[in-house]
Order: sequence, then structure tokens, then C-alpha cells
Amino acid sequence: MNVQKYKRLARENYVKPQVVESPRGIIYSRDRKVLAENIPSYTIIIDSNRITEEEYREFSSFLKLHSHPDSVPLQTGSPCHYVINKIPFSIVCDIEEHKEDFPNVSIIARPTRRYPNYEIFSHLLGYTSEISKKELKAHPGYRLGTTIGKSGIEKSYEEFLRGKDGTKYIEVDVRGRELELISYVSPEPGCDIWLNIDAELQIFAYEILPDRGACVAMNPQSGEILLWVSKPGFDPNFFSGGIPSKIWREWREDSLSPLWDRVMKGCFPPASVFKLITAAAGLEKGIVGPHTKQPVQCNGSMMIGRREFKCWETHGSLNLIDAIVYSCDVYFYQLGILLGVERIMSQAKKVGLGEKTGVDIPGELTGLIPSEKWYDKRYGKGRWSKGISANLSVGQGEILTSPLQILYFVSGIANRKVLNTPRIVARAISSDGEEVFSNTPHSRTLPWSAETIEVLRQGMLGVVERIDGTGGLARVPGIKVAGKTGTAQNPGGEHHAWFVAFAPYDNPEICVVVFIENGGMGGSVAAPIAGQILNKFFYKSKERISKSEILNSKQIQMTKIQDICFGF
Ligand SMILES: [Zn+2]
Repeated sequence: MNVQKYKRLARENYVKPQVVESPRGIIYSRDRKVLAENIPSYTIIIDSNRITEEEYREFSSFLKLHSHPDSVPLQTGSPCHYVINKIPFSIVCDIEEHKEDFPNVSIIARPTRRYPNYEIFSHLLGYTSEISKKELKAHPGYRLGTTIGKSGIEKSYEEFLRGKDGTKYIEVDVRGRELELISYVSPEPGCDIWLNIDAELQIFAYEILPDRGACVAMNPQSGEILLWVSKPGFDPNFFSGGIPSKIWREWREDSLSPLWDRVMKGCFPPASVFKLITAAAGLEKGIVGPHTKQPVQCNGSMMIGRREFKCWETHGSLNLIDAIVYSCDVYFYQLGILLGVERIMSQAKKVGLGEKTGVDIPGELTGLIPSEKWYDKRYGKGRWSKGISANLSVGQGEILTSPLQILYFVSGIANRKVLNTPRIVARAISSDGEEVFSNTPHSRTLPWSAETIEVLRQGMLGVVERIDGTGGLARVPGIKVAGKTGTAQNPGGEHHAWFVAFAPYDNPEICVVVFIENGGMGGSVAAPIAGQILNKFFYKSKERISKSEILNSKQIQMTKIQDICFGF
């Protein structure tokens, strides 16, 4: 910069700083698919400190003339710039042509989030949008207009995904015309996030799941979440740059509730899947052994007080393992009454039901594991019957669990002891290729003896392997699969179908939960879907990815980021 130039600047021109937004980090699946990326989109920025009312009026009618839907509720002299996002390229060209008429209006290309798979990964990825005033208070380094993660991975890994904005200093004349770029501080892209999710498996699961349900799978030995499907999903692309109110309203009013993540917020009675807990409580308290039979055999129902409690079949006299295999309600009603509410529910709490699993995205619900106190409060002290513990012993009544909680505790059984906290993210890699975060496993111990766990495992194996077990439709050729069916009664309509499975039996690599809302019977509706997912996992989707491969693909991606960052 020479002396003349300084003088000129001091006399009539000024230097205008312009923020250059940094692109957010890319989100990858374990099988190297891009799940969230950035594309340039055009934004109009109006300098509200300088624009005159006349210029503003002219610009508004110019926009209307070009039939842009946004009306511009601008207050001149307000402290911030006014921003209009997602400007079509044709309008951008028109404004550029009339640049001289609107010196205080500028157009910038900014990186905008794009989700190439639309709704399939929506609940786990979440979405981004412009920061709200409330969020601005909690994030001191941010400014109005900044994009921020609002839910899912985008929210919980915001600190890694967000980069550091750069600045352009532009010399501008008195009329606001841009003359020269004085200096440029380049933006730093955010860290890339690598997920444990197997994208191919997830896309497959999304396709085969009926229109309302959830499916979630993890490696029980590590806690790595392999797929996380809640159906229907929503298209998170709509949120980037502001969601049209019509679409938001449609989603909120949709009877299929596309915004609701059924994996961690869908709380339903676990039905017969819960028999595993009742069985464990009976074994741990020494009330039953694996071969103990109950006094009343199953004739399709039994009387408790003056009320008839039904079984779904006529099973005759069974021992505990067979009662798991054939899912006999009459067996568990009796065991439930012997145990009582407190002893069953304390076991449920010990394996993580009724609390958050600690998965690394926000918004998880706890469900409900009612206690005796809870019933006393509801019905009055002692004013509730034995029927309640019978009902709870088969996972019906007031008890509510999410598919994620079921996955969590059954993976402990699969694993023979260790309960690993579910983890969606594997690591974060900075733009210069450094690993800046690695999601270390957290675990706790299943509070049951090895003998108890072995009985549950054997029962679950029989469910799938025995010729007349309830989960035969989950079989996979050449792989030993164990599972448990559940069919939750739903007073408002069709039953909800559950199936939980792990495989291979001896050294499990995957544990999967399928939940179909109003789907019907667990064995006939959910079990075959779990079988197909396991089949896909073992035979078509076994892609493993090493750390060095991740770094290599990072190098390739760098070119892409720079294009977005500096190529405007
Ligand atoms: Zn029965």
C-alpha cells in the first residue's frame, strides 16, 4: 500500500470487512460415504448501517420484480446486516448487472450444508440452521447469521465441525462501491467427523423397514453404532438456510411424525423382550433355575384374582428356558407375582432401563421403569393388585423403553458381561489431517452372574434356532443367531412388533433391534427384517476401514474443501 493510497483512503474511502464463512467439516460413514457436505449457495447481505431508505425501497421492488418470495422487513440503521439466503442464480446475475444502483447490497457465496441421502440419515445427523438469539448468548464466539448445528451429530459435535471464519478487507468508496481487496484472512475449515455407521447397511435397513418404525444396531464388543434408522425421516436439506414455514407445518402435522426419532425418543412397552429381565431377576434371586416349572401350566390363560390373564398360545408345562423360547406369558405371570414389582424393576434399572444410555447425540428419553412408590402415588398406598406385577413381568402395563435401551442391555447379554455405551462417532480429523478427537469406549458391567447370563443366551438361541421357536424367521444361513420377539399390545390400534437379535452366537459382532409401530406380531413382522439386516451385514456389507485409509481419503477431500472455500 503506498502513501497516495493511504491518503485517498483517509479522504473519502473506507475499508469494509466482510466475513468469509468457513465450511463445516464433512461427515463420513465407516464405509467412506459422504453423509454431510457443503455446497456454495448465494446470500444477499444488506448493509443496514449505510443503506438509505430510497436505495432500500428500490432494491425491494427490484426483488419483487424478479418475483423473489422474500419480502424484506428491514429496519435501516439496525445494528446488524440483513441477510437473505438461497438466492437463485438468475437473480444473482440480475443483481450483479445492476450493481451500480445498489452499492450497499452485496452478494456472497457461502458454504451451505447438503445431505446427499436426504431423509435416510436425518435423525442421527441432525441438521444445521441459522443461530437463534438464545443460542447466540450461549456461544460467545458466534455472530448473527452464523450456521450452527441444531440436532444430532451436527449439534453434539458442533465444536469440531465448525471451522474458523476468515475476513476480506475491501476498500469501498463513499458510494459504497467496492474498489480493491486490501487483505484476506482465509477461513479454516472445520474438522471432518468419521462415524461408526455402515452407510450401506443403513440404506438397506431404511428401504426394508415399513413406513413407521425404528432399527438400530451396534457392535456389542465396542459400542460402535452400525445403523440408526427412524422411519419416516425428514429431509434435513430444507433446514440449511431457513426452512419454508409451509414444510415445517406439514412435518409437524404429519400423522407419521417424521421429526420424531423413534430410536431414542420412541418409548413403548417392551413386551416379551422384557421377559429376559424377569427371568434374570428370578435366577438372581434364586426363585427359579433354568429347568424350574411353574405350578400352573399354560392352558392359554390363567386367573389372577378375578381377572383372566391371557397367553398368546397354549403351552402346557414349560421350564424357564422353554418359556423364553416359546414366550409363554402364563409362566412369566407366575414368576412376576413371586418376584413382585420392586425386585423385577430393580433389575431393569441395573441394566440401564429407565435412564439414558449416554449415546453421543442429544435428546435421548429415559422411558419409564415404575416402582412400588410410583404405583402408591398413582393408586394410593397398597391400593393396587398383584395383577400389576404379572403385567409388568411380560413387559406390558406402564413400563416404557426405547429401541436404543433394548439394544444397550441385550448387547450386554450378547457380550456376556460388559455393557458398552453406544457411540455413533468414531473420530474427528482436522483439516491438516490430525486426529483431534477419538471416541473412547465407556463400559459398565452387567450385574448378573455368568450362570444367569448363560441361561438367557441359551433361551435366546432357542428362539431363533429351534424349529418352533418364535424367532425362526431371523435365521441366517451359516450364522448362529440368538434373539427375542416382542408384541406390545396397543389399546389405540394394531400391536407394535419388536425383535432383538445378536450374532454370531459365540462371538457377537452385531446386536440389532427392530421395532415396527403398529406392525403386528414381533415374530412374523420384525424378526424377518432383523434376519435380512444380519444377512446383509455378514455377507454383503463387511467393510472395515483402517485409520491410515481415513487419513488418505482426507487428502482427497482437502481439494474439495478448498474449492468451496476459495473458489467463489
Ligand atoms: Zn403360554
